[in-house]
Amino acid sequence: MKILTVIGARPQFIKASVVSKAIQQADGLTEILVHTGQHFDANMSDIFFDQLAIPRPDYQLDIHGGSHGDMTGRMLIEIEKVILQEEPDWVLVYGDTNSTLAGALAAAKLHIPVAHVEAGLRSFNMQMPEEINRILTDQISRVLFCPTDSAIANLEREGFADKPIEVLQVGDVMQDSAELFAQRATQPKDFSIADGFILTTLHRAENTDNPNRLAAIVNALNHLHRNVAPVVLPLHPRTRNLIAEQGLTLDVYLIDPVGYLEMIWLLQRTGLVLTDSGGVQKEAFFFGKACVTMRDQTEWVELIEVGANELVGADTHAIIDAATRNLGRTVEDKHSLYGGSVAAKRIVEQLKTMKI
Ligand code: UDP
Repeated sequence: MKILTVIGARPQFIKASVVSKAIQQADGLTEILVHTGQHFDANMSDIFFDQLAIPRPDYQLDIHGGSHGDMTGRMLIEIEKVILQEEPDWVLVYGDTNSTLAGALAAAKLHIPVAHVEAGLRSFNMQMPEEINRILTDQISRVLFCPTDSAIANLEREGFADKPIEVLQVGDVMQDSAELFAQRATQPKDFSIADGFILTTLHRAENTDNPNRLAAIVNALNHLHRNVAPVVLPLHPRTRNLIAEQGLTLDVYLIDPVGYLEMIWLLQRTGLVLTDSGGVQKEAFFFGKACVTMRDQTEWVELIEVGANELVGADTHAIIDAATRNLGRTVEDKHSLYGGSVAAKRIVEQLKTMKI
């Protein structure tokens, strides 16, 4: 059986690393890897292939930049050509990026069944490009691999029980990755901050593309860094450009984006995670750290319910208050919220045995 996997962005490399390994170990499965090029800087792409031993992509489409429609359209054209050439049995896509939607759409139109990993997540905010991508991808998939109870509940509410689409709860592949690579955590080069710092990531369009929100967050980070604890920020290249464009000054411990092994090292030593990332909210939890999320909604609602994560939007005072209160607080996974690192195995077992 031939599986054609479409990836293109940093979190997808981390998710695919564990599933690709499980595919390699399974009898009778081969994987063709297509990298759309959505993320292309060495520290946003190559480093993950090297560190996580992801097979080199069979196809590098080198598509990035431009508007959402432009980028997604170019991906659609090129992925269709690859699918026609490879004639896979499945097309496997991850998460909620433009690469996810383009891969799913190209496959569905050619009547190739689509498997969507990290399906069923919803923020209920249609302003987010990710929300549009994930809703549409779920609709045209053949099997939906869901990470959480809430993802299953979202799909039930949307009537998926009556559709010819398999909905399966398999757990979260990011927990598999966190567990697999935890022992190999690596100190970032030239890093010299004592444990207990605030680990921040900032890249969500709703924050970076809105000058008021971006300024409010920068103010909060500067205040925290000067008065509460060092703020360590591996800065996403998009955010770096937008902060410069807005004439804002970040007075924190800025570093370039790091590899996953360095990110795990930072997560193991941080006193608090302060983020607008999807994946990093869960990683905080996997490494027992409290999280404060600079968004108005989250797809990972169970973390809010168990008190591991607090949503503060982009309000300067709310961010400072929540970060100060949560600094140093540890959290524990008492309910196996994300399945316990079995997702990749379950996904591959299903792909092998499902009738298509
Ligand atoms: N990450 C990383 N290096 C960094 C920042 C993040 O390896 O400098 C990892 C992080 O640990 C997580 C993933 O990238 O596994 C999250 O990706 P991102 O925040 O870009 O996307 P999202 O999860 O919000 O879709």
